Amino acid sequence: MIPLLVLLVLVIVATLPSLFSRFGKPASVGGKETIWRYLAGPCPQCGCSLEEHDWAMFATTVASEANKPRLEEFFKKAKAHDWRGLKSFSDWEATQNDMEAYVVRCSSGGVVFVLWNPYELYDSDELYMREGISPDEVLAIEAMVPSTSWRIGSSIK
Ligand SMILES: [Zn+2]
Repeated sequence: MIPLLVLLVLVIVATLPSLFSRFGKPASVGGKETIWRYLAGPCPQCGCSLEEHDWAMFATTVASEANKPRLEEFFKKAKAHDWRGLKSFSDWEATQNDMEAYVVRCSSGGVVFVLWNPYELYDSDELYMREGISPDEVLAIEAMVPSTSWRIGSSIK
């Protein structure tokens, strides 16, 4: 009887993470789902498909009422192109709404996206900012983002 109970507990513990991601947003910070649909269409810098470019999640912060001062700071830094300041934001909560900044890199510069990633699955994500950046800015950002964090763009679409 006891081994059966232990087994049951083990099964419950093992399935908890998958239950969590099923009811909330995906627990990984990969964020592919949020940025992906914004990559449809041409790159404002070179005219190629944005999907062909590499991209990386650059910064995140929790978009809650309690975190409002930080959230405003997040936007301020994004609008000011203060990439070093923005990079210092990395708080992210699977159980809350989050604001995410992505960088798409291009040979002629890049594009920064700031998206709202809602906790509730039936809420859709929202684009808050989409701005072109210069090749120099991309270089500065590349120095801050580990090479393994870039998702390689696909040219087979
Ligand atoms: Zn491009």
